[in-house]
Amino acid sequence: MFSLPKLQYSYDALEPFIDAKTMEIHYTKHHQAYIDKLNKALEKYPKLQKNSAEDLIKNLPVVPEDIRTAVRNHGGGHVNHSFFWQVLKKGVEPKGEILKAINKKFKGIDNFKELFKDAATTLFGSGWVWLVVNKEGELEIMKTPNQDNPISNGMMPILGIDVWEHAYYLKYQNRRPEYVDAFFNVINWDKVNEHFLNARK
Ligand code: MN
Repeated sequence: MFSLPKLQYSYDALEPFIDAKTMEIHYTKHHQAYIDKLNKALEKYPKLQKNSAEDLIKNLPVVPEDIRTAVRNHGGGHVNHSFFWQVLKKGVEPKGEILKAINKKFKGIDNFKELFKDAATTLFGSGWVWLVVNKEGELEIMKTPNQDNPISNGMMPILGIDVWEHAYYLKYQNRRPEYVDAFFNVINWDKVNEHFLNARK
């Protein structure tokens, strides 16, 4: 049985960029719902319950067809949100290897932010925008629909933004670009750097 991972900070820790009410509902209601539905889908397949959620969505073709879509959506939802909470923190500047790599690939952090914002604001409907390390070991900005995760396509996500309306509607309503600007103030670049170093191993 999967369960909600402990949030390492309080709901108001990301104020004013991400408000406490959004954090609370997003974590206790939305993330919990993905977990509940994933557990439900796996009920009739006890053997699969021994896998991590990451392993399940990395290997969707081996998941039985009758629960594959549920695992893709709700397992993805669980993996994505667990990842998202960890890459959020206020007041961390980009530095180290990840900054060097961003400067090299995107010609500066400001240009990276512009490209990432463009991807996040043009993603149609619900989904995520990621900074990934691709199969060639290069940084790449990538969009995924719904709760799909780049690991299903052999990419390693190192940063991600949830652009489902539930992630920002209470505070920003339809103003997704403002939410994306705010997000840049709460990126835990130390964690992103850690993911980056692991992805390159
Ligand atoms: Mn979400």
